Amino acid sequence: MFDLVIRNALLLDGLGSEPRRGSLAVKDGRIVEIGAVSGSAQETIDGDGLALMPGIIDNHTHYDAQITWDPLASPSPSLGVTTAIIGNCGFTIAPCRAADRELVMKNLTQVEGMSLDVLRAGVRWDFETVPQYLDMLERQGSAINIAVFVGHSSIRTYVMGDDATERPARPAEIEAMRGLVVEGMKAGAIGFSTSTSPAHNGHGGKPMPSRLADDAELRALVGSLREAGRGIFMLTKGGHTRIDFLEELAAASGRPVVIAALLHSSTNPDAVFQDLDRIRGANERGRKLVGAISCCPLAMDFTLRSPYVFEGLESWQPALPLKGEAFKGKLAEREFRDNLRAEIARPAHFRLFNGQWQQVHVIESARPEYEQRAVGELARAAGKDPLDFMLDLALEENLDTVFSALLLNSDEEAVGRMLRHPCSLVSLSDAGAHLTFFNDAGFGLHLLGHWVRDLSALTLPEAVWRLTGQPAELFGVKERGALKPGYHADLLLFDPARVDRGPKRRVNDLPGGHPRLTTSAVGVHGVWVNGVRIGEERTLPGRLLREFSA
Ligand SMILES: [Zn+2]
Repeated sequence: MFDLVIRNALLLDGLGSEPRRGSLAVKDGRIVEIGAVSGSAQETIDGDGLALMPGIIDNHTHYDAQITWDPLASPSPSLGVTTAIIGNCGFTIAPCRAADRELVMKNLTQVEGMSLDVLRAGVRWDFETVPQYLDMLERQGSAINIAVFVGHSSIRTYVMGDDATERPARPAEIEAMRGLVVEGMKAGAIGFSTSTSPAHNGHGGKPMPSRLADDAELRALVGSLREAGRGIFMLTKGGHTRIDFLEELAAASGRPVVIAALLHSSTNPDAVFQDLDRIRGANERGRKLVGAISCCPLAMDFTLRSPYVFEGLESWQPALPLKGEAFKGKLAEREFRDNLRAEIARPAHFRLFNGQWQQVHVIESARPEYEQRAVGELARAAGKDPLDFMLDLALEENLDTVFSALLLNSDEEAVGRMLRHPCSLVSLSDAGAHLTFFNDAGFGLHLLGHWVRDLSALTLPEAVWRLTGQPAELFGVKERGALKPGYHADLLLFDPARVDRGPKRRVNDLPGGHPRLTTSAVGVHGVWVNGVRIGEERTLPGRLLREFSA
């Protein structure tokens, strides 16, 4: 007797094979038969007209803090995700000494757009080290499977304290950090993550600790993965980090490298393809490097209180550490604005905002007649420069005006080419972070609906492979990411004619009743994690993944 049989669905195996109609049987959390299944089951589901695929592996999330108060990792499971990798970009919450908790939360507030009140009310700090954090996750349970990176910024703060955001590390400090990476890997981390991106600033506008690392520190820490004998090196790179250097790290460590965040900019349309082609070159020389790309347009809702859009700009730095009236005073300054305008007008290899004022809209304002209109258009009508218009409006409304900016990845022809590139990895949902700016946790459904069905940019088997089999192989996730007998029953049943992510909407369900953006699934008929259906009631069938293939 099987626990579950799904009959007559279009089976997509996650390995890119041609789909075929058939049935799939589950027993004790594992797939036991595929194809022509005979025999009875506790539960039988008619899959006629539907497609069945392995659950989505979301390789770029930031659930590290949220998972301590929300083991459901909402909304990912309802959007077809059955495994999430947390701790990307080096922004973890372990290791952390009690005395550093406030600093770590303040850094997350800045870099991941999480409210400090939410973090103070929400994070359960019953751990200090990475092994203790892993044990805590395992005890607590989760709706989906979780794998954890050792994060560079956290280990740097742990070893160097306040100096972590101030200076390069000394040899003894590098040695101590190496020890922490090895300790985390031994306890079951999936790899080591870092960021060199100028968009990543922490408390008081200081760079996140990992950005202070020199080449010797990165060589040593990535090199420690060789000692561990497995693991992925993940980084979000700034424009100054060269692919050649990352290839050198891949060669020295013998480990795969995931390079984020490759997003397409309409003002520098070739840059991302140059990076991808350099990555392809490294692969031809026998290294394993992939470029982490997104299948979603990068659009952000923001207020000038927390304008992530601008915070990576050199000319924004004078405003970064300021609060309250001092901050407002800075935004009003002529010279500050002129410097901003000049910087935005200069060409850049990679920059979030490039002065596309037609793609910045007013979303919520005390003047409803402005809502849903482009800042470029409103400024023209008012006879003003768009930057002046935006800052003046925000200052007039005590910084409460909500804007939305369509920043990157808006050229669908280009994003389609990125999605088909042999060295790209569909990634960057950032689920669990930037909750007031955007929510791309439904990226997988968007890939299946928008890119496969609506645009035919990928075939269905190829898209499914990119969401399941490809990341499983790359990250060494064992016995998941494919429909194979013996594999864990992580499953997504959906209607290919309807599948999509719903529109984003604001809900007030964070600790303390704070708001976030969320999104619902369209055309999803069932999600199973280790054979257990994710539903209305609180089920926690997910596992902490600690063993990976090398
Ligand atoms: Zn990230």
